[in-house]
Amino acid sequence: MAPASVLRLKAGRERSLAHRHPWIFSGAIESVDGNPSTGATVEVVDSRGTFLARAAYSPSSQIRARVWSFDADTAIDDAFIDRLMARACSARRDMLDDAHTACRLVHGEADGLPGVIADRYDDVVVLQLLAAGAERFRDAIGAALMAATHARCLYERSDAEVRALEGLPRRVGVIDGALPEEVVIREAGLHYVVDVVAGQKTGFYLDQRDNRAHIGVQAHGRRVLNAFCYTGGFTLAALAGGAASVLSIDSSAAALEVARSNLARNVTLDARRCTWLEADVFTELRALRNRGAWFDLIVLDPPKFAPTAAHVARAARAYKDINLLALKLLAPGGLLATFSCSGAIEASLFRKIVAGAAVDANADAAVIAQFGASADHPVALTFPEGDYLKGLLVRKRA
Ligand code: SAH
Repeated sequence: MAPASVLRLKAGRERSLAHRHPWIFSGAIESVDGNPSTGATVEVVDSRGTFLARAAYSPSSQIRARVWSFDADTAIDDAFIDRLMARACSARRDMLDDAHTACRLVHGEADGLPGVIADRYDDVVVLQLLAAGAERFRDAIGAALMAATHARCLYERSDAEVRALEGLPRRVGVIDGALPEEVVIREAGLHYVVDVVAGQKTGFYLDQRDNRAHIGVQAHGRRVLNAFCYTGGFTLAALAGGAASVLSIDSSAAALEVARSNLARNVTLDARRCTWLEADVFTELRALRNRGAWFDLIVLDPPKFAPTAAHVARAARAYKDINLLALKLLAPGGLLATFSCSGAIEASLFRKIVAGAAVDANADAAVIAQFGASADHPVALTFPEGDYLKGLLVRKRA
């Protein structure tokens, strides 16, 4: 076997690896010997040549390497991948039951598998590979998923924009089995169609499962506004929880079409209480305000306004804008469930933004609960960047 390529860190730059952080940035690297190819496994050593980790090399990314293992005795091969994939899948066993047939199976760095995302939607598994090392082990990852899940179809959605940063092309399509004409999941007993081919991300926002359940409970008897509704997750949860009415807004006609069919599919829900609106949320919140509309529960679950740290200032203004408008639309005693899925906006900053919005809206408001992603999206203690989804439940006092 050829000797492994060696990635040597600059003196003093081993600190984050000592804390088991899995990313090695280009600026920390002294030298790379052995001319490793994209995605190849390299041996990471400190400036004195002491072993630190085995990592996947990604020459075109600022995140130049991602750690597979900190153990010198662990070989990075198909068997290693299979072990970690099986471990990740079995850790989610509790997330699946008669009422819930979808969950995330593999959550990248948090499962020790940088760049590997896999979501189960009933008997279809959707795979998304986001890093060069993950791409290199594509066959082993696919085989491990089929073995662990006995899925009817393995479908690839490696079309996220971050792949370009890794120098990887877009790739989508069936890897194994046959894609059923329609993929339908159950969450909290409600049926949702998931468009795994053309839907956002891998088709559904699984990370909001627990929060949809929470909002469902809060919705009873309330006039609900669900802004950025996508395919109606919070809408259906609110209707099931006994909401008096739900107005749901999204700018995507395709998402709303699925949302409508999701409502029709759940015949126990009262469709007369539900209104869908294709519109820009920023514009529509202002229009609602001008019309004198009031709500008792508002959900704000916008897309990632800050894709990177460079976008934080502009994103902060956008978050403040919608939160300010929502707080104005809230009746006294009403609840605002407000989310940010921008990893670059930390929880403390998000809270400050919402606090600023409350001051400007002249609302006396208090946080009564805090939200994160569901348990199938764990956050590794060594990888705080993984804590991307944060939410606050705010009560506007009378
Ligand atoms: N809450 C949803 C997920 C929301 S994802 C769920 O539980 O499934 C964010 C949504 O915001 C996407 O559906 C996207 O189409 C929509 N969106 C993005 N920008 C928007 C805008 N300016 N106005 C309205 N909708 C927008």
